[in-house]
Amino acid sequence: MTFGALNRAILRSSTRADVDRCGLCEVPVADGHAHVFDERTGELACACRACALLFEKDGAGAGHYRLVPDRRVRLTGVSVADLGVPVRLAFFVVGLDGAVVARYPSPMGATAWTVDPSAWTAVSAQNPDLASMLPAVEALLTSSIREADEQWLVPVDDCYRLVGVIKGAWTGLSGGDRVWTAVEAFFAQLAEGGHRPGTSARPHRPREGN
Ligand SMILES: [Zn+2]
Ligand SMILES: [Zn+2]
Repeated sequence: MTFGALNRAILRSSTRADVDRCGLCEVPVADGHAHVFDERTGELACACRACALLFEKDGAGAGHYRLVPDRRVRLTGVSVADLGVPVRLAFFVVGLDGAVVARYPSPMGATAWTVDPSAWTAVSAQNPDLASMLPAVEALLTSSIREADEQWLVPVDDCYRLVGVIKGAWTGLSGGDRVWTAVEAFFAQLAEGGHRPGTSARPHRPREGN
């Protein structure tokens, strides 16, 4: 994932005027649509229902698209401190090359850390869900802000959404109180809609025929 993609995602979340379109076939997409990770650009593209289904079916991505799954799993006991990232709110993504990068979802500029691979291996080995985290399309999202103890395996586009939430509520240099209330609300929403472990990867959208 590039910072360019992240910045565009932030931009998109604040300017709702223009309609998102499927990055593959260009039809307009509804809220809650799926995303695919483009291996060539390292960026996310919106995916309409038909295109997402295509990738979901057999993982066929023509060699360069990966569907962002929608499982959200609350984790416990992840030794986040052992990952050596000096902030209380961060998301961790494993790249296709195996490198693990942590980011602080602040609108004030991109702050990133490369996580020591052996530390990551040790920490993820203790948690089967975390060990099953897919590269590029899923993230470990953690927060210990205001005594929070949030550890989640989430689709990577959730992290983009969180950046948008933070940007919308950020005031002054350090963010202000409002931003942390917004972050808490974001995690509360995850908890309400969180999927159980083992839920298969499936783009978020209403079921057909109901
Ligand atoms: Zn499409
Ligand atoms: Zn989109």
